[in-house]
Amino acid sequence: MTLDLDALQAIDVHTHAELSADGHPSLPEELEAGKAKFFKAGVPQPTVDEIAGYYRERRIAAVVFTVDAEAATGHPPIRNEEVAEGCARHSDVLIPFASLDPHRGRAAVHAARRLVRDHGVRGFKFHPSLQGFWPTDRAFYPLYEAIEDLGVPALFHSGQTGIGAGLPAGGGIRLKYSNPMELDELAVDFPALTMICAHPSVPWQDEALAVAMHKPNVFIDLSGWSPKYFPPQLVRQANSLLKHKVLFGSDYPVITPDRWLADFEQLELKDEVRPLILKENAVRALGLVAS
Ligand SMILES: [Zn+2]
Repeated sequence: MTLDLDALQAIDVHTHAELSADGHPSLPEELEAGKAKFFKAGVPQPTVDEIAGYYRERRIAAVVFTVDAEAATGHPPIRNEEVAEGCARHSDVLIPFASLDPHRGRAAVHAARRLVRDHGVRGFKFHPSLQGFWPTDRAFYPLYEAIEDLGVPALFHSGQTGIGAGLPAGGGIRLKYSNPMELDELAVDFPALTMICAHPSVPWQDEALAVAMHKPNVFIDLSGWSPKYFPPQLVRQANSLLKHKVLFGSDYPVITPDRWLADFEQLELKDEVRPLILKENAVRALGLVAS
């Protein structure tokens, strides 16, 4: 089984598998509780098999990842191999990304190579605030070099986060690490590394737009927010100057594609821009066809 790009109506570049097959969550309980409060209801975490069933029914492909933040949280991650194997069972709809805590150092570099080579991983997810690191810290450059070399994209959380929101000390999470200007510098140092700046980057929306405009290898994903609440400049540029740089993402399960797509319908966008955002830009960003 492989992705049948023509048969798919969309590609969702941002979904989470944060529950292992044995019921172990990727986040420690107190951060999980903060997130549930921020998103109003505790959203039940789906397994990889459940994600596949949901997306297959809708003829949407989905990039799936967990987040490894063990150095900052002390909480053991879900194994990337498990996520990758789950995606391999559903390779008609799921695209596996891996998450490596950059604090793992050389071990992360070796794991990145092994995950792509032996486990079919197609990209990497970073969450600077949750993982507690400056993306431009030179200590982590060997990891980006490996990812650039492997020819797969790196997706970075950007802007505010629900994780830790409202908890004392914000659960120890620092928002500052998720400023998209960090990616501007990485884009200079790693011009062949495709980067996806995830989410409307509030409070740095204009920064994200400027970076995506200036650096050919930086894309923006529209996940984590209902399109109803997108900042107006994001909609305006998605419809014009950045129409080839903006990607559909939901952040499933916190936002379902059903809701996201229904609200996306209501946005004032040119007809020719919709298929770019929903599918065609992702084909390029994810390297799904030889270009
Ligand atoms: Zn997310």
